[in-house]
Amino acid sequence: MLKKSSHAFANKTQLLTTKTYARMKDERLAVTQSKSILYTAPLRRVMEFFAHETMRPSQDQLILDVAATIKNKGVLFAQAPTGLGKTAAVLAPALKAASEHDLTIFFLTSRHTQHKIVVDTLVQIAKKSGKKVPVMDLIGRRAMCVNSDVNVLSSRDFGEKCRRLRSTDSCSYYSEIWDDKKLSETTRALLTGFRQEPSHVEDVISLCSSNGVCPYFMTQLLGKKARIVVADYYHLFNDTIRDSLFEFAHKSLSNSIIIIDEAHNLPSRIRELLSDSTNTFGVYAAAKESETFDKELSEMLREFGEFLEREILLIPQEARVEREWLLSSLESMWSMTLGDVIIHLDRISEKVLEKEGKSACANLSHFFSAWLSQGSEFVRIVSREYSSGKAYAHVSVRCLDPAVTTKNVLSRAHASILMSGTLKPLRMYADVLGLSNATLKEYPSPFPKKNKRTFIIPDTTTKYSSRSDTQYARIAAHCLRLVNNTPVNTAVFFPSYAVLKSVRSYIEESCEKTLFIEDRSFSKEEKTAFIERFKTYGNKGGAVLLGVVGGSFSEGYDFAGDVLRMVLVVGVPLGKPDVYTNELIKQYETRFSQGWNYGYIAPALTRVLQAAGRTIRSSTDSGVIVLLDERYAWSAYAQFVPDDAVTVKDPLPLVQKFFNSLA
Ligand code: SF4
Repeated sequence: MLKKSSHAFANKTQLLTTKTYARMKDERLAVTQSKSILYTAPLRRVMEFFAHETMRPSQDQLILDVAATIKNKGVLFAQAPTGLGKTAAVLAPALKAASEHDLTIFFLTSRHTQHKIVVDTLVQIAKKSGKKVPVMDLIGRRAMCVNSDVNVLSSRDFGEKCRRLRSTDSCSYYSEIWDDKKLSETTRALLTGFRQEPSHVEDVISLCSSNGVCPYFMTQLLGKKARIVVADYYHLFNDTIRDSLFEFAHKSLSNSIIIIDEAHNLPSRIRELLSDSTNTFGVYAAAKESETFDKELSEMLREFGEFLEREILLIPQEARVEREWLLSSLESMWSMTLGDVIIHLDRISEKVLEKEGKSACANLSHFFSAWLSQGSEFVRIVSREYSSGKAYAHVSVRCLDPAVTTKNVLSRAHASILMSGTLKPLRMYADVLGLSNATLKEYPSPFPKKNKRTFIIPDTTTKYSSRSDTQYARIAAHCLRLVNNTPVNTAVFFPSYAVLKSVRSYIEESCEKTLFIEDRSFSKEEKTAFIERFKTYGNKGGAVLLGVVGGSFSEGYDFAGDVLRMVLVVGVPLGKPDVYTNELIKQYETRFSQGWNYGYIAPALTRVLQAAGRTIRSSTDSGVIVLLDERYAWSAYAQFVPDDAVTVKDPLPLVQKFFNSLA
């Protein structure tokens, strides 16, 4: 008999779903009053898979565009503002097409927290349609692992250790899945339960753990019949992970509809995913590890470490180097080629991994392989870093062009939909991801215009040439005037921790509200506790959160309702271009004559829009955005600044009038 999970998962899912949809229903009613939808035949066709009874304005158009994209086997970039209900809108035509043509939907997100709304929507669809919607809700294997002996390892080491435990029958959770090469009775009972209605990954983990079964491989089994897979970007964009997922779950790219949520994150996430690096500590660790297996190799690696230490004294803080820089240096130093060294490292790492579960030789082998194989879409950088005051070398192979992977994956799929509330300029994302022929669509915001005001304060800036105590004091004075005179929760986002630190003391001196100051060392639990405490001030006169654009709270956290009514964005988060950024700029200038825009300005302003967007998360929310930097009034930035922005030296009277009108 199956053991129940401590979460009593069925009830939990029910509760979450009811709560979420009660709010969504209220919002939908509020918006649909302003426009009636004409339910044409193409819309009626997908209604069985639409989570709600009625559509919001713009949802109908998004549904039709997604349906056409899937029919034409194309790619759609959709700039769909928050509140439009894009998850439900995109799922309806995708599920319809997938069920008719036996396709699988891959709904990919950049954060695990974004899975919840997708699975909640699928629960609603299953209920409304009376049909089963088989789902595979997948996160990283390490995060799903319930074997406490191994889930503390790094991702790379963990994968290897898990493989070995399984091949030697040493993980009881994996063994429990099988019974003499067939699925065990427990596994079959769990599979039947999970297939009854879409299950959140947390519930799968909890129930599998209670029954002594590996949740990750249970989820893989669910994948075989899944109509929709909810996963992270890397599950499809990492070749090795995709191949193994497809093999186990019997999927293929050509039979997949790929939906990328929060697609503005895709270029940077793919660049990170494809990049690799090492440092002198890693090299010496590999030298030590190889000592007992291969003295000659160990000595060669030590020489390499010393070479790096000498080299970083000859360069400025960082320098671009060519592939040959390392190859010719190693050739003069070593008695074997880099390719041979990789083979030796792999042999040693196999033995070490078997015993220790992690290996410095394995990491160095990965790095050397990347150094050897990556082409002109990558840049090689050597830099001097410091640890406890001592200099060490950092060497990296960094991806410049995410299209090396995205073009290959997204254009080979049956159809691909990339959507976000901040996907402007659409042309840039299509170019950067290598999909220049895609359809580009922008949908109007469903928010009543009267619910939001945006102001630009022009006598402030965080330009490097203008940074001074006088400037910081002026910025603080503007912030204080606004937060001390409005009874709402406010977030002030700075372009960096350094600017936050410079302005913070002026704000602390005269702020009349409780201050919440972001600390970059916060753990996940500390962040949650911090934000929950901040939220409680929303209906008690308000508090002030000081954070950083691109930090912990400017993206990913939902501040619906009274929780956040005003966002101040200080400055423009443009860092001093480093070697890597300069290479990005050069690349996009050569290819699209858009170097500064694609490589520097647009990514920074997308982060600003994400931060500013925290204040209005649902169509019944209302709030104020204030941009404190003269550059927001420049024409070069106009395409990123909200249309309703008004430039005004002192916005307080207008802000107060706005909040009073809503009271
Ligand atoms: S088989 Fe499952 S439980 Fe065992 S180590 Fe691998 S992921 Fe963890």
